[in-house]
Amino acid sequence: MSNIVAIVGRPNVGKSTFFNRLIQRREAIVDSVSGVTRDRHYGKSDWNGKEFTVIDTGGYVIGSEDVFEAEIDKQVELAIDEADVIIFVVDVETGVTPMDEDVAKLLRKVNKPVFLAVNKVDSGKREDQAMEFYTLGLGEYYTIAGINGSGTGDLLDAVVEAFPEKEEQEDENLPRFAVVGRPNAGKSSFINALIGEERYIVTDIAGTTRDSIDTKYNRFGFEFNLVDTAGIRRKSKVKEDIEFYSVMRSVRAIEHSDVCLLIVDASRGFDAQVQNIFWLAQRNRKGIVILVNKWDLVEKETNTMKDFEAKIRKEIEPFTDVPIVFISVLNKQRIFKAIETAVEVYHNRSKKIKTRTLNDVLLPIIQNNPPPAYKGKYVKIKFITQLPTPQPQFAFFCNLPQYVRDPYKRFLENKLRQEFDFSGVPISVYLRKK
Ligand code: GDP
Ligand code: GDP
Repeated sequence: MSNIVAIVGRPNVGKSTFFNRLIQRREAIVDSVSGVTRDRHYGKSDWNGKEFTVIDTGGYVIGSEDVFEAEIDKQVELAIDEADVIIFVVDVETGVTPMDEDVAKLLRKVNKPVFLAVNKVDSGKREDQAMEFYTLGLGEYYTIAGINGSGTGDLLDAVVEAFPEKEEQEDENLPRFAVVGRPNAGKSSFINALIGEERYIVTDIAGTTRDSIDTKYNRFGFEFNLVDTAGIRRKSKVKEDIEFYSVMRSVRAIEHSDVCLLIVDASRGFDAQVQNIFWLAQRNRKGIVILVNKWDLVEKETNTMKDFEAKIRKEIEPFTDVPIVFISVLNKQRIFKAIETAVEVYHNRSKKIKTRTLNDVLLPIIQNNPPPAYKGKYVKIKFITQLPTPQPQFAFFCNLPQYVRDPYKRFLENKLRQEFDFSGVPISVYLRKK
């Protein structure tokens, strides 16, 4: 579970330049499995060995070029709610603007670590100009140049130093489920169907961060923690359930979960926004179950369900091996099945396969379908082992790992999926030198 760092500031100060710099190095590793387009406003980074999630909140403001003050306010409130640490970026070229002052005013009231980053400081003269940002009343500032990285090291030292201490969660062995999806998909209704009756609540475990609460349930004979119900309780605070707000909520819930229950409104389909949330979960290597809700609203013919399912699978290629359950929260239809499936995915994700079994099953398959020769060189895979990580990762040891291309890695992943059940679980395949 990593800390969340939000980057806020008005348009054109250099937020996305700085953001891209932060996530660049990681991205290459994280995206090694498939070439699907992902949300670029959200990424993983690490500094001094501390991993964190970065959100470029500006990326969620629609029409950010001519953004209105109200949008900035929302962006900042969002950051205040969702992040552990906030980086407020300002621009030395323009100096202090009224909009900067508004943002500073909001941030002065926050009791989370806030770092003021004066950007575009790429000369000594600008270093002096930066001093005017003291007037924002946020104390010390950091001068940086996002474009070449200068000064960002000192800033990041301070940022990771400020991360709150997080205690280990209790009940680590219970599945942690996050219910995610677009506004109006039926998330609250689903959760209410699960928790409607108080007696199913076993305990309220106060979360490690002030706004994340795990609640332990015992329902249908399964025990699990529901993640981020706090967000749902606070819902009344959010008048417009705007898209980016809900994505932000999802980010935190996804981070804290083992399995995401992605609720899709059948009457709206598996649209771009839902896909966005799906890839967030996939990229975080969380288990996923797709719940197609409001199935009662859909007029059914012989193949309706099949066709609907096929359409979703097409969109989530190449990670098609995800359970899809058609539910109606309204009619309490297949709610049990939904939870049962989520528990299965949880078990798939924590599954450990012995090195011996892996080799016995996969080596003969590999022998029949070896990696194609590359530049006249033959790759020989010698053995396979599962890495001791919380989610399934496999290392294939061979003589020339750099010659194994993505299509063959996907072949290996598919064989792993065929031979051992990993449905709903992102898996990683690494080629290592031996
Ligand atoms: P955002 O709207 O806050 O995300 O800003 P962008 O990252 O898109 O940057 C806005 C403009 O500022 C772009 O033209 C960048 O190239 C430029 N910029 C960003 N960082 C720096 C910097 O460190 N120095 C200079 N001189 N320009 C920068
Ligand atoms: P959330 O924004 O994702 O939490 O969605 P809500 O749980 O607030 O539900 C949005 C609307 O969809 C409400 O009017 C619900 O009554 C309705 N709804 C939820 N589940 C179903 C369902 O299975 N069938 C139908 N017909 N409506 C549903």
